[in-house]
Amino acid sequence: MSPSPPCNSALRLRLLDAILPNSLPANRRVCYILALRPRLRVANVPLRSVLTPPMAQNLTRPVVKRLVPYVPGRPAEEVAREFGLSDVLKLASNENPLGPSPLAIEAMQQALPDLRLYPDNSCRALMAELARRLDLPEDHLIVGRGSDEVIHMAGLAFLNPGEETIMGDPYFVLYHLTTMLMDARPIKVPLKNYRFDVEAVVGRITPATKLVFASSPNNPTGTIVTREELALLMERLPAHTILILDEAYGEYVTSPEYPDSLQYVRQGRNILVLRTFSKIYALAGLRIGYGMACPDIIAALHQVREPFNVSSLAQVAAVASLRDPQQVARSTRLNEEGRRYLEGEFARLGLSFPPSQSNFVFVDLGVDAGAAFQSLMRRGVIVRYDPAFGMPTHVRVTIGTMEQNRRFITALEEVLAELRA
Ligand code: PLP
Repeated sequence: MSPSPPCNSALRLRLLDAILPNSLPANRRVCYILALRPRLRVANVPLRSVLTPPMAQNLTRPVVKRLVPYVPGRPAEEVAREFGLSDVLKLASNENPLGPSPLAIEAMQQALPDLRLYPDNSCRALMAELARRLDLPEDHLIVGRGSDEVIHMAGLAFLNPGEETIMGDPYFVLYHLTTMLMDARPIKVPLKNYRFDVEAVVGRITPATKLVFASSPNNPTGTIVTREELALLMERLPAHTILILDEAYGEYVTSPEYPDSLQYVRQGRNILVLRTFSKIYALAGLRIGYGMACPDIIAALHQVREPFNVSSLAQVAAVASLRDPQQVARSTRLNEEGRRYLEGEFARLGLSFPPSQSNFVFVDLGVDAGAAFQSLMRRGVIVRYDPAFGMPTHVRVTIGTMEQNRRFITALEEVLAELRA
């Protein structure tokens, strides 16, 4: 089939722009287009050509066509509109219910007049603050637009087509997306009792394994890789493999078995440790996180880093947050209280769950979790349900304020009564 003349594509795109709301997320675009069938018919535009514009299809890299886009939790406003609710509680994205440090907000307000300038490309103030606190030289640090961006940089810097990455299953979706984008092969090793299975992972390492991803605490199960397990993993890691240890939720951990992973960074081992300002520091909307590794790994990441990747507001807010120990203390206190409460209520309701070391709990509802998710949403509570977890009776719920946690449990009891009936 010969490609359509460019003028047809341009016309089609103009038509789509006219009829598709700009704010429509990609995952709802197809549904929207299907609903518009009668109007497309009147305009004499074949449905197939709208769903798969021929020009873009021909030009797209094959690996990109195979990617399954990340589907985030639904925004509270969208759910409120759909179900006619005035107050929707989102406990789906592991955000901090307390909000940012007042010091961070003040620092951003002071930085506003300078927004005409590009940000500091080297994140000097933040690097100095991190280096001092972590007792690491600055050449062991890199700052990204969220730790997501550091994961992406690791893919760009280290993964050749056909090489392998290993991740626990279920996994944090960015590990998979980055692997697929680089035309590498994701090897998924099932969790054992909800925990990263170090023995099994080590057994799957081959000469083609370039990266091993482990999140600790693990998303979505909230379990950790212990000191002993990390030691074993580091001992068995071959020279051609880098461990990416994702500690996005590390500040919430209370277990004495949680390792000091930076000792391996200081020893110059093949490990990249990730942390973020999105969780305990409550700056998810700004997009800022960082990585720690030996200078060779960090230098490779800088090679692929976009210039000015971290906004100036994110940089000043991150520095101010680090200087507010009360923010962390308040957040961990609230989280521990909420975690105890939720786990106690789950036990009372006869539900099983792996004890969490994070700001969320992964719970087995013992009923169809997709139906429970919908039913909770109708009651104005959004939790995280993802068929890709491969655990069809489980949801992940973010720990909120005590009032929010109680509201969730009240709704959950109603939903369980409905679905068990
Ligand atoms: N790593 C894990 C395990 C996560 O769950 C998340 C976000 O939810 C991230 C990384 C990404 O964090 P950031 O907001 O810093 O990109």
